[in-house]
Amino acid sequence: MPRNYVPKQISLDHLGLLKKTSCGSRDSLAYLQERKALKHQGVFTKTERLSKTQQLGVEDYPKGVGGPKAQPMSHPGTTDSEVVYKYAGSVIRQIIPQDRIGTYTVNMQTGSQNGVQNGCPINKEGAEFNPYRNWRRPDLPSRCTYGRSKDNPHSNKSCPKPVRPKILNSVLENIAGTPMIRLNNIGKSEGLKCEILAKCEFFQPGGSLKDRIALRMIEDAEEKGFIKPGATIIEPSSGNTGIGVAMVCAVKGYRCIIVMPQRMSLEKVATMKALGAEIYRTANGIPFDQPESHVGVARRLMEEIPNSFLLDQYRNPSNPLAHYDGTAEEILDACDNKLDMVVIGTGTGGTLTGVARKIKERCPNCKIVAVDPEGSLIAEPAELNQKGKKFEVEGIGKDFVPTACDRQFVDKWYKAADKESFQMARRIVREEGLLVGGSSGTALHYGIQAMKDFGLKEGQRCVVIFVDSIRNYMTRFLNDEWMGERGYLEDEEEEPSK
Ligand code: PMP
Repeated sequence: MPRNYVPKQISLDHLGLLKKTSCGSRDSLAYLQERKALKHQGVFTKTERLSKTQQLGVEDYPKGVGGPKAQPMSHPGTTDSEVVYKYAGSVIRQIIPQDRIGTYTVNMQTGSQNGVQNGCPINKEGAEFNPYRNWRRPDLPSRCTYGRSKDNPHSNKSCPKPVRPKILNSVLENIAGTPMIRLNNIGKSEGLKCEILAKCEFFQPGGSLKDRIALRMIEDAEEKGFIKPGATIIEPSSGNTGIGVAMVCAVKGYRCIIVMPQRMSLEKVATMKALGAEIYRTANGIPFDQPESHVGVARRLMEEIPNSFLLDQYRNPSNPLAHYDGTAEEILDACDNKLDMVVIGTGTGGTLTGVARKIKERCPNCKIVAVDPEGSLIAEPAELNQKGKKFEVEGIGKDFVPTACDRQFVDKWYKAADKESFQMARRIVREEGLLVGGSSGTALHYGIQAMKDFGLKEGQRCVVIFVDSIRNYMTRFLNDEWMGERGYLEDEEEEPSK
């Protein structure tokens, strides 16, 4: 049974998140440290067992070169502990809530966390390490190579444009293989002579490019034996990954829980509910590392629900790999490996990472242009970013740089405003007949800017990725009232210029 929309207070209360620790401020609330990363750096070397009476303290952290120097403090009125230590040059404050000090084992060698939290089993004692049941911060730098080099830890799937049989076995076989369509009018009216091609991901069966990663994340986990029939799949999402995951779960028979911030459209909620997903919505603007954020609530649900698995697109390598093996191959195939610029909006950064890496391998001179909304913190250099500014285009922008986002191949970042994005999305519909969502407007508006800045000429070619469809936004940027109230209609061209 799909769970109906749960109002914030009830859902947070249900999750026990309204319970305050005596340690006070939101900023000081943090969860257990990212143990596998520490292990990777040779910090953790032994198995630790914490008992109710043994509060986490200095001796619970293994000592070693660069290892944390812990200063435990108890919090009056609770048995919560606070540990402050230095790691990688920064001071880390960690509140270890009472419920985490219970029967809880951390294997420092594997990073696996066995035992019980809040009455729910994490990994069973002695179970294999399962990355989908071990939360990690989603903003750690990526250590992945993704490519085809010898030290690539992942399997690559060779998937150029799929050849479709006449009859498909399920909707999942219709994922990928989207068309590349030439834009005939907008570029011209902007005075551009280069060719502009749209990679039309909004034709995916779930309505967005995120269908690719939903399928790839779930199938990679199944192949490795981490997810089995009867599982519950949990994902924090701005909606499109949620729709993709819900669709895959509907076909494969998994229970699906999506956690999404309130600001995302009701159209997305309706689609996910129709697909049988249970939806939790979190308040807007909560920093990602707080327990009430969509990332925090998803983590909490994973820890509370037995046999549940967190895919976590923000750090799951299958996200960029879906684009490295799929989206990028399709773009290169359509262009016969000849292209001069690609424009990509960033949310998790998975598209950027996968597409840019593959395209730079094959077409090293191709410019990679990334677009990030004003108010988001992904763009480089950091001075471009303005913390705390609100933005309304959905699916792009974050208050952290996701692990899945590798920015090394970006030639230039552009910061995007809502008004220009929505106006351009409406132009794409009206002038090109392509039924796109708001972030496609963002990509094209700032892509045009980049084509001008880089001086793309006749005979050169730019590909812009159109991520999702108009279906998600019927009551938003398609609606004149919604646009007018926000001042987004001002200066909108009456007629497309000829
Ligand atoms: N546009 C939309 C509409 C999206 O939903 C997303 C994904 N959140 C993106 C762009 C960005 O894609 P990525 O997560 O791969 O950076």
